[in-house]
Amino acid sequence: MVDISRGSTLGGSGASELFQLLRDGLPRTRTELAATTGLARSTIALRVDELMSLGLISPVGDAQSTGGRPSSQFALNPSARFVLAADLGATHATIAVTNLSGTIVGEMTGPINIADGPETVLTWMVDTGRALLEQHGLSTADVIAIGIGLPGPVEHSTGRPINPPIMPGWDQFDVPEFVRQHLEVPVLVDNDVNIMALGEQAFGWPQTDNLLFVKVATGIGAGVISGGRLLRGAQGIAGDIGHVRIPRGEGVACHCGNRGCLEAMASGPAIARALAETGLGDGTASSVIALVKHGNIEAIQAVRQAGRDLGEILTACVSLMNPSVIAVGGSMAVVGDHLIAGVREVIYARSMPLATSRLTIAQSSAGVNAAVLGASILAIHHALSPEGIDRMVL
Ligand SMILES: [Zn+2]
Repeated sequence: MVDISRGSTLGGSGASELFQLLRDGLPRTRTELAATTGLARSTIALRVDELMSLGLISPVGDAQSTGGRPSSQFALNPSARFVLAADLGATHATIAVTNLSGTIVGEMTGPINIADGPETVLTWMVDTGRALLEQHGLSTADVIAIGIGLPGPVEHSTGRPINPPIMPGWDQFDVPEFVRQHLEVPVLVDNDVNIMALGEQAFGWPQTDNLLFVKVATGIGAGVISGGRLLRGAQGIAGDIGHVRIPRGEGVACHCGNRGCLEAMASGPAIARALAETGLGDGTASSVIALVKHGNIEAIQAVRQAGRDLGEILTACVSLMNPSVIAVGGSMAVVGDHLIAGVREVIYARSMPLATSRLTIAQSSAGVNAAVLGASILAIHHALSPEGIDRMVL
């Protein structure tokens, strides 16, 4: 089970309505709820009844031991509703159905081409979601929200991609509106790195309020969780570290139009291109991974240098946000310790001792499921927020 109780991560009001307390799945009595909230017991009783009638909480525990008296403890009923989660990449996608605890009930991965445009890709997503629900004896009526991750910048408040470089036809497309034509539920959209950060935190570091998730793949980007909240910034591109200049990149052209960008030196394709110029590999990121796994010294050194390049930029991030965890994920993270070792080398050498005294730099623990878990958390958080629960009551 994934800890999705930390509603504040996504910027919730923190008002902690009764249900927000019960979202962690731990059973509580009415007396405990009254004591924690400071609300009158009569108010608690009304709210408990309301949540019970929605099926969102159910009695647990002590019915037997109290000799037939009704149970006095209540907890989240994770199977009361479900969400659809979609991780849409450039060339492949994962769709999952999860319960309200973020546990994956069913999952399907398939090839897509994001450049086919939003109508084609989103229709496929909806059809696949329906098929998954049917396979598990569920229907669209069981779904309370949909979370979608896209491989480009997204204005989270509207769910519209903004100038996404690898997604022709998607710019400003109203993703929630299109999906709601098929499934009449709230649709939450964010960029892939942000949802990976959410998934990584929930899966691997549930007690951590300050986490930086770094994706190293075709591109490089970071998802920032600070003070327990996902930081999106003014335009939703907070954490877009791929196009910060690094000294070693002097003069090297980047696809963004600038020179010397981190991404032009340390992304999967950049490492592959540099190795191919020396006659190693076929110029693809997967050939780099294969070379490293076979112990090729040149490939290992190239990956370690990419880690150092990344470390240069992350050192500045450490100074700025003082994270306690830096998790490195994305397809290049599977090369293992060599990339991380380069990152550590630079950050530990350059940061102030206090900033690194309790800093963990590690490979992503959520792995390939980080994105789809994060998309599910995005949807669950919205659906179970005080506003979401209010919508259900109405
Ligand atoms: Zn660039």
